Amino acid sequence: MAACTRLSRALLVPGATLGGPRLPGLRWLSGSVGPGQAVYDVVVAGGGMVGTAMACALGHNVHFRDKKILLLEAGPHKVLDKLPATYSNRVSSITPGSATLLSSFGAWDHICNMRYKPFRRMQVWDACSEALIIFDKDDLDDMGYIVENDVIMSALSKQLDAVPDQVEVVYRSKVINYTWPGPFFNAETSPWVQITLADGRQLQTKLLIGADGQNSGVRRASGIQNVCWPYDQSAVVATLHLSEPTDNNVAWQRFLPSGPIALLPLSDTLSSLVWSTSHEHAAELVSMEEENFLDAINSAFWSDASHTDFIDSAGSVLQYAFTLLQPTKSSARQLPPSVAKVDPKSRALFPLGMGHAVEYVRPRVALIGDAAHRVHPLAGQGVNMGFGDISSLVHHLSRAAFNGKDLGTDYGLRKQMNALLPGHCFEE
Ligand SMILES: Cc1cc2nc3c(=O)[nH]c(=O)nc-3n(C[C@H](O)[C@H](O)[C@H](O)COP(=O)(O)OP(=O)(O)OC[C@H]3O[C@@H](n4cnc5c(N)ncnc54)[C@H](O)[C@@H]3O)c2cc1C
Repeated sequence: MAACTRLSRALLVPGATLGGPRLPGLRWLSGSVGPGQAVYDVVVAGGGMVGTAMACALGHNVHFRDKKILLLEAGPHKVLDKLPATYSNRVSSITPGSATLLSSFGAWDHICNMRYKPFRRMQVWDACSEALIIFDKDDLDDMGYIVENDVIMSALSKQLDAVPDQVEVVYRSKVINYTWPGPFFNAETSPWVQITLADGRQLQTKLLIGADGQNSGVRRASGIQNVCWPYDQSAVVATLHLSEPTDNNVAWQRFLPSGPIALLPLSDTLSSLVWSTSHEHAAELVSMEEENFLDAINSAFWSDASHTDFIDSAGSVLQYAFTLLQPTKSSARQLPPSVAKVDPKSRALFPLGMGHAVEYVRPRVALIGDAAHRVHPLAGQGVNMGFGDISSLVHHLSRAAFNGKDLGTDYGLRKQMNALLPGHCFEE
């Protein structure tokens, strides 16, 4: 059963012509679009963190109990049978709002039972001046959480497994084509979106949700334009050991002339690095000797080599002026920890880019996550924005389902989701 972890109930049509690759106990529909083909209420294309969370949110929604939901993911099923001793180098800073969404369908509890690190303070400062901004909470509430992406995926997979009657999941299923209903339907044509998988299987859906990432095929096929450009930067990630144990509940970020470097807490002794810099420098950082790599990180956080007298004195004058205007108590600057070791093989780089779809919703299609918007990781908002999309979309779909409306043509939804876009649109 390598290709599929769960039997797709609606794809199993009694008496259907068999074809395509067969799996034990599975009979798949094949051939051309026809009246016997499975029709889903919602198909989510793409089972990354955002698509899987979307499927979970719908599967656990009371108004979707009698709906057929399908999640299609090109990759394999990702569930951690046992939490690895070594931390993954891919982590996300998760906001309390995202944690609330994940709690609403039970995934946050799994995360808490696996591994996560809350932080209570953020210190962001400049390498060329004394400029500094501190975010902290007086009431000791958590400001956010650093969670490994694998842990998030595993928690989401567990919650999907808890609703097998609501959500069907097909892993290793790549979608290769979408066909949109034309303006004029007749008895021979379908009013739904037709989906073709790489192995030739076909199905239909009333609403297609594109959660298929930055190069979204759903976005392309639906003709929604995307404004995008590459940043001239890559992000270097790594798992780092601190020189000495600390409470480690601060997220640190320093803006260097070449880009921001961030140290995100994982445990009392470990932090995760995200260093955005030029492609050339990033390539050097991942291949240099460990000792040089650690020196480069410590110096990036500690060195004042980029300071100039002019900027320092201009900064002091400005700071004095602000103190006069707003004499509130400012939080004290703290010193970041130094790092002593990097986990072997944890260094990796990711080219960075920006992307934004000019519409999120059209009849029978909605885009969420990186398919709708891809941002620089410096603010740690990419997946949080995707989770925000889910909150909005589920809110509207749930209401539409409760009112017995066609989910794919609820134009109230279109108006409200697209209202999340900035006031103006760009051309590609
Ligand atoms: C270095 C770095 C650090 C980051 N840190 C943070 C952070 O701290 N906080 C934060 O909020 N965000 C962060 N982000 C951003 C975050 O990782 C992304 O926004 C998020 O992973 C996007 O998730 P997604 O599910 O929308 O897309 P993806 O993760 O790209 O998932 C898309 C899925 O669709 C599947 N797919 C694609 N095409 C098809 C197809 N044709 N058929 C079937 N399946 C398909 C793919 O296999 C994939 O699983 C960071 C990003 C980087 C690079």
